[in-house]
Amino acid sequence: MRPLLRVTDVRKYFPIREGLFVQKEVGRVHAVDGVSLEVRAGETLGIVGESGCGKSTLARCITGLYPVTSGSIEFDGDPRREVQMIFQDPYGSLNPRRRIGSIIADPLVIHRVGTKAERRRRVQELMELVGLNPEHFNRFPAEFSGGQRQRIGIARALALRPRLVVCDEPVSALDVSIQAQVINLLKDLQAELGLTYVFIAHDLSVVRYVSDRVAVMYLGRIVETAAGEDLYKLPRHPYTNALLSAASVADPDLSARRERIVLTGDVPSPIAPPSGCRFHPRCPKAMPKCVTDDPRLLAQGRPEGGHLAACHFPVEPGERLGSEKAQIE
Ligand code: SF4
Ligand code: MG
Repeated sequence: MRPLLRVTDVRKYFPIREGLFVQKEVGRVHAVDGVSLEVRAGETLGIVGESGCGKSTLARCITGLYPVTSGSIEFDGDPRREVQMIFQDPYGSLNPRRRIGSIIADPLVIHRVGTKAERRRRVQELMELVGLNPEHFNRFPAEFSGGQRQRIGIARALALRPRLVVCDEPVSALDVSIQAQVINLLKDLQAELGLTYVFIAHDLSVVRYVSDRVAVMYLGRIVETAAGEDLYKLPRHPYTNALLSAASVADPDLSARRERIVLTGDVPSPIAPPSGCRFHPRCPKAMPKCVTDDPRLLAQGRPEGGHLAACHFPVEPGERLGSEKAQIE
């Protein structure tokens, strides 16, 4: 079956320029550095990684907000109308001086859909769909709570009846008590409207409840991808293992099986990524080969299982990485 979205070896570099009069390129941020993935109709692909790993940049490439430096993004349909985005910040992504009815109607106006009266009806229908009172279309964003503002963002993203919705950390700016409500709304909408999601988050416990498959990003690359539960049961990449051990603090279901691994240091600079395996400066399993050889994404376990990891020394079943070496903070 043809995937709904196919991303092939996409790179997105941002030039760094210096100079007062004549600007000269002095380096490039390798925000996304060779990402390939496929998303099938009706599924949710979770993309996880620390801040700065390139996941938001990848999201913006997929939705067409950023042109790619190289590689290709193929969508089975009209990407301008059928790919929409829900943003992380429900405060910053809504213009405070505009009424929410006109914010939600924006995509309809831009794409010249319907008459003014039809758009009004569609806006009220969308408000009802996301659990907002349709009578409130004349109110301003400040009159709504964070969770309600994210519902406004969701209504706007759905206005053109997209097939693919890219959700960039849709709940990370919200109170924990509100997060589950918004996630459940997204799941209900997916079932009702047959939506396909790319769901971006910085921790694995949030994507666990929404994703069919999960891809883990580190410094502009995908380092591991698998069907959701395979990834949680047996992460093969040491980075995924460390992320899971961090997530387990908030998720007792995971902590029973795992000791906490504290990764030392920050994510290295994407201007000059480390040689060999980009994770080697922080990896508890790093060997000399890791410093020189860049590991490719290779099948783990059954080849048809779709579990891939980019590591020379993948984590074995039962292997404990919470050693003293890994726990230095
Ligand atoms: Fe760690 Fe080496 Fe695997 Fe990279 S290739 S994750 S440094 S063991
Ligand atoms: Mg981000």
